[in-house]
Amino acid sequence: MKVYKFGGASVKNADGVRNLRTIIDEEQDLFIIVSAMGKTTNALERVFTALQRADKAAAQAEIDQIRQNHATIIEDLWHGPKHLERVEALFADLEQFAAEGVYHPEEAEAWYDRIVAYGELISTTIISEYLNKAGLRNCWIDMRQALRTEQRHKDAEVDIEASTPLLKEAVAHADTSIFVGQGFIGGAPDGTTTTLGREGSDYSAAVVAHILDAESMAVWKDVDGVLNADPKIFPDAVQIVELNYLDTIELAYSGAQIIHPRTIKPLQNKNIPLYVRPFGDKRKPGTVIRGMSAKVDVPILILKKEQVLLTIRSRDFSFVLEEKFATIFSLLEKFRIKANLVHNSAVNLSLCVDKNWHIDEAISALRKAGFDVMKAEDMELLTIRGYTDELWKKYARTPQVFIKQSTQSTVRIVRKRS
Ligand code: ASP
Ligand code: MG
Repeated sequence: MKVYKFGGASVKNADGVRNLRTIIDEEQDLFIIVSAMGKTTNALERVFTALQRADKAAAQAEIDQIRQNHATIIEDLWHGPKHLERVEALFADLEQFAAEGVYHPEEAEAWYDRIVAYGELISTTIISEYLNKAGLRNCWIDMRQALRTEQRHKDAEVDIEASTPLLKEAVAHADTSIFVGQGFIGGAPDGTTTTLGREGSDYSAAVVAHILDAESMAVWKDVDGVLNADPKIFPDAVQIVELNYLDTIELAYSGAQIIHPRTIKPLQNKNIPLYVRPFGDKRKPGTVIRGMSAKVDVPILILKKEQVLLTIRSRDFSFVLEEKFATIFSLLEKFRIKANLVHNSAVNLSLCVDKNWHIDEAISALRKAGFDVMKAEDMELLTIRGYTDELWKKYARTPQVFIKQSTQSTVRIVRKRS
């Protein structure tokens, strides 16, 4: 079995879907994981925020737009208007939920998951039907049933042990060896829909590869492979041919948008190679990520945006005590706040964290626990691995630097957004 993952950009229009079909043309024993088409997840997030403010009309307007975008793709794929019953049923469900649901703030995350999951449900339904029509018989898998996650919404982790029999059972009796499943979504023990964090489809694909003992996994993207920097920010970016799992995890955590940070572990556990390949040209080799690759020999530049800097001080000046650290980190975990950089002095602990819905609640909880907390917003975190004097001068000597951390090979800077 191989696992192929197609991201939203790869299936943003009918040409993308046709191209997907060309890529899988001669494959057998293939599990395809697909994200929501184009920017559908962002649009569904707007449906959610409209419902959060009880603006039903705005939510319906967003849904109309999403429906229109998908209708355009369907019409192009079927060469004319086409009524796909299962797609219609999904839209009807979504509309009904949006119209009739009564929102409670405690259920924010569960609502979010319920709504944004439609992106993947709709995209996989269209693609599965299209592949059938194009002669590639396939089996649509409902990943809400096949992947069991922890009981946590918006950023759930898959319970691989619990999912193994479910997914194996789902593929066991199919009369085809080609499967189409949704990235990004799963089901909680209580039966509600969960999501795995934005860009989580890579992680879904890795879990599927792990459970089904795939020989390899490939992520088809709109880039030639993994680059050493985002070319939109650093113009001299070059492609990396091979990467090891460890470097990849480090890069993903520093904010490189190669792959979802949780993707590597399930693959590494079973030594499954991961290919990052250009969707536009299947002859190009892309990048391979696996265990035995050497360390990369080019510098790597990663800019992580949407950061907040928290500076925390204990009111009794007893900062050196580890137990204070334990209190702080367990509060952060409670509010699902990830620290991307930690910097401490005798009296202060500075944390560069992802912007998150619950930052202000976490700050109040920290204050209650006896800490003074300062918050600086609109920050970004720049990491340069393998830096040279030249790179240092060019990118790291920027104004508005709040924190600079450096080791022999890596420099990390927290600065105001430029
Ligand atoms: N559709 C989801 C998102 O846009 C998941 C993914 O693309 O991997 O975040
Ligand atoms: Mg996406």
